[in-house]
Amino acid sequence: MPEDRRSRAPQPHPEQTGGTAAEPTSAEVGRRLTPFQAVNLQFDRAAELLGIPEDLRISLKTPYREVMVELPLRCSDGEIRTFSGYRVQHDNSRGPMKGGLRYHPEVDLDEVRALASLMTWKTAVMDLPYGGAKGGINCDPKTLSDGDVETLTRRFTSRIERFIGAHEDIPAPDVNTNAQVMAWIVDEFAKYHGHTPAVVTGKPVALGGSEGRESATGRGVLFATERAAADMDLPLEGARVAIQGFGNVGSWAAQFFHDAGARVVAVSDVHGAAFDGDGLDIPPLREEASKARRIPEGAGAETLTNDELLIMDVDILVPAALGNVLHLRNAPDVQARLIAEGANHPTTPDADEEFRRRGVTVIPDILANAGGVTVSYFEWVQNLQRFRWKAERVDEELRAMMDTAYDSVREMATRHETDLRTAAFALAIERVAEATHLRGVG
Ligand code: NAD
Repeated sequence: MPEDRRSRAPQPHPEQTGGTAAEPTSAEVGRRLTPFQAVNLQFDRAAELLGIPEDLRISLKTPYREVMVELPLRCSDGEIRTFSGYRVQHDNSRGPMKGGLRYHPEVDLDEVRALASLMTWKTAVMDLPYGGAKGGINCDPKTLSDGDVETLTRRFTSRIERFIGAHEDIPAPDVNTNAQVMAWIVDEFAKYHGHTPAVVTGKPVALGGSEGRESATGRGVLFATERAAADMDLPLEGARVAIQGFGNVGSWAAQFFHDAGARVVAVSDVHGAAFDGDGLDIPPLREEASKARRIPEGAGAETLTNDELLIMDVDILVPAALGNVLHLRNAPDVQARLIAEGANHPTTPDADEEFRRRGVTVIPDILANAGGVTVSYFEWVQNLQRFRWKAERVDEELRAMMDTAYDSVREMATRHETDLRTAAFALAIERVAEATHLRGVG
């Protein structure tokens, strides 16, 4: 049987043994933080508020297990390329660990660690019976054939199969992975453990996936934004919205903002941004982008760069691509009053401080983009019960869970007179610390 709980934690990382407890808030220090240090800085800010002692903080921040595997692949062009695969399991005190799988050339251990820890805090904010994990392979799938991506996925699965499972650690799609990749994992995992659809979520519906999973993160971004906008007396009807990233999260968020009557004036992908001051016509744009696998050239009245999109004159900004895109150099120029973090850690700590100083409301990633893991949880529940929910039920339950989480974070923010990110971390830390305490350390 695999090990349980935190008792066999790996050696602490240098950045967890007190190093991040200091308060490096200047631009200079902010920029040299690694992603994991940046998340831990946010953790420490909230832990300070709660009076969590240093020894418990170190235990809560330290990942439970880190797996790194070599992945050699004979590509369809005949060349042998060697990739690195990672799975970081951060915490399982509240349940099996849960988190996506990312295929991107910049994937490295520190970033996967940061994303795994964010999953611990995200599942706790949503009060899901999960801990946090994340995985990735440092490849660029756009340079690989579909057959290569399948082989790589199967090889990775065969190397980590003993560490994942429906009651251990449940991967899901993230950047550059999708329902097809999850289907290959189900098939490969079955060779070792028998057919186990609940080993991953975000599967095709035909293979036990849930209705509403694909659109869930974008839908959750809208739900959280509706609540924050109402608190700010910012009507969504007619609000100007810019969205960076037009993949799963960004394109669905654009659709839902459009449906809610907002004016989505700019969207972007890795190639650049499309702009129309009157609002882009999102449904046909989504269709064309899905066929072309990019925003078509010439879409919108004008084209912009991704940097220009972030500082546009809009009411609401949704970063929904990669991390660290809002930093001290552009944060002073951001004009949006409300930022809904569709992406994970899009805001560096120093930019966050700038937004706090200027009174810009930021709905943090661990709340704003939690719709995906919430519907993943519904998928897992359906798999375990061998039962299917209708799309309407999925959307209703998602709305209820997003509203409850938003209310709890808001209440924490009011109680401690703090921002939504610090409040969300505080809520999550309280829940994980209580579970850790009840289960006992050692
Ligand atoms: P995706 O691969 O479907 O889409 C990513 C999008 O970002 C694409 O449009 C791509 O062109 C664009 N992009 C990539 N690099 C860029 C760059 N340098 N500048 C501008 N745009 C760039 O990925 P996704 O699943 O939509 O994930 C996006 C973000 O949301 C990630 O941070 C991910 O961790 C986070 N997230 C995803 C989910 C989910 O359910 N998929 C859930 C929670 C959080």
